Amino acid sequence: MSGKVYLIGAGPGDPELMTLKAARALGMAHVILIDELVSRGCLAHARSDARVVEVGKRGGCASTPQQFIERLMVLHAKQGKIVARLKGGDPFVFGRGGEEMQALIAAGVEVDVIPGITAGLGAPATLGIPVTHRSLARGVMFVTAHTNDGAEPNWGALVRSGATLVIYMGLARLPHIVEQLSAAGMPLARPACVIENGTLGDQREVIGTLASLAQDAQAQRLGSPAIIVIGEVVRLAKRMRNSGSVPELRVA
Ligand code: SAH
Repeated sequence: MSGKVYLIGAGPGDPELMTLKAARALGMAHVILIDELVSRGCLAHARSDARVVEVGKRGGCASTPQQFIERLMVLHAKQGKIVARLKGGDPFVFGRGGEEMQALIAAGVEVDVIPGITAGLGAPATLGIPVTHRSLARGVMFVTAHTNDGAEPNWGALVRSGATLVIYMGLARLPHIVEQLSAAGMPLARPACVIENGTLGDQREVIGTLASLAQDAQAQRLGSPAIIVIGEVVRLAKRMRNSGSVPELRVA
């Protein structure tokens, strides 16, 4: 009897943004390993006798070591159990889902991946910000400002691309990010926003420009989890129409 692991994307926050397939897999699982960022409402689909293990971590805090999580999944799957590994957003977007899949395959465990709506798509959508738009941005880049080796993104290349920038794990380094983008030639008037707790009931955001973003986010005491969106598409944000900080754009 061999078990199986489902690597599941729980979506960006709002439990209703989880897929039907994710809900079905959760309903079969004997063991659920859940990240801190995942809304507990997602567990409404779990079996009442499922064992739920919290393995979350949050920027800077103590975390369950990655190896431990991987061993736990292998152990349970080899006992014939169905394991659901529930991760925030999409499991393959800055979520170590790739590493976990590799570890499972190396251990000979069957694994299925169920994608989810990543925070970088879900959060801007709540404000009516289309990450691409024929007249405003022909592409979108998902980048992280937080790396283990301290390497920086190629800011110049990001600016030259003309794509909308969606930055994960960047709030703590927002002043640095603004400085780097500006030094690489991005105009300080470029519309930008920070969205905290995107898609959740307690979502908050600041919308402005590259010039105002860091100060506004600090003044509003925005905290983690937060996503940064920079690009002309931010002009379409619903709240911006009332704020008057950046003129409304008429799109043909
Ligand atoms: N796999 C996840 C990302 C994990 S990295 C996904 O696809 O969404 C964690 C980072 O994601 C956070 O630091 C934050 O930048 C972003 N994030 C996750 N949930 C968020 C939310 N509800 N609102 C805003 N940002 C969020």
